[in-house]
Amino acid sequence: MRSFPSEAPARGAHHVADFLSIDGLHKVYQSGRKPITALQDVHLGVARGEFVSIVGPSGCGKSTLMRCIAGLEPITSGRLALDGVPITEPPDNMGVVFQRDLLLEWRSILDNVLAAAEFHGLERARHAPRARELLALFGLADFMDRYPRELSGGMRQRVSICRALLLDPQLLLMDEPFGALDPFTRDALNAELQRTWMATGKTVIFITHSITEAVYLGGRVVMMARGPGRIADILPIELERPRGLDVRETREFAAYVSRIKETFRELGAY
Ligand code: ADP
Repeated sequence: MRSFPSEAPARGAHHVADFLSIDGLHKVYQSGRKPITALQDVHLGVARGEFVSIVGPSGCGKSTLMRCIAGLEPITSGRLALDGVPITEPPDNMGVVFQRDLLLEWRSILDNVLAAAEFHGLERARHAPRARELLALFGLADFMDRYPRELSGGMRQRVSICRALLLDPQLLLMDEPFGALDPFTRDALNAELQRTWMATGKTVIFITHSITEAVYLGGRVVMMARGPGRIADILPIELERPRGLDVRETREFAAYVSRIKETFRELGAY
């Protein structure tokens, strides 16, 4: 069964209830002599509380899409709205986690998490209890007064997730957040992220190069292709939750991974 991008579910039943809606999005970069179409006719509707993985080869426009959703990049045409409000600047109810943790080395771990409040001009003291609570939840209770350089890569990325969650955003955007971590840490954070998502009911858009990670975490996997960047296919993942890491050894899981690989093979991405 295939769902085709231009008539993706976003246009059907999903539409009214979409929390994030992307309609006919085009993004053309004008830098240099030749314009580059980074995104062409992208349609995607994401319901509140959904976990959507986006996977695709380098250059297919994943980061561009993420920056557009984050309000950091103006779109060329189309419509992009969060909770019915067009996105023209970074929305308040959105948290972002990048591959590089972007922690401030001269600030303590607690102060790094509180930077999210300061960035929005909010009172630090009022948010400190929540920052402590989040750090404890992510196993960092004993590290609040330490500095980023004293932490491992996995711990640092946990801190940036806490920072993104501080203001209790409805939407969490994650751009290859575990790409720089070793496989053991990556597994642990995959399981932790699923737990957090299930406990909080956040809407998550998760960009990754890893098909396994995309299937393990996603309720749907959006496959992107390049030249120009576009959505090639969308696959719902109907594995029960919570998913243990060992679900990845099952035949059902392997079938999802094969299907996605086959799509990318057909697109010439392999
Ligand atoms: P991905 O994240 O999937 O690797 P990107 O969104 O980074 O893809 O890039 C998509 C396309 O847009 C690529 O061809 C890239 O070279 C181009 N691109 C990305 N950012 C810019 C920019 N600021 N100016 C010009 N071209 C860009």
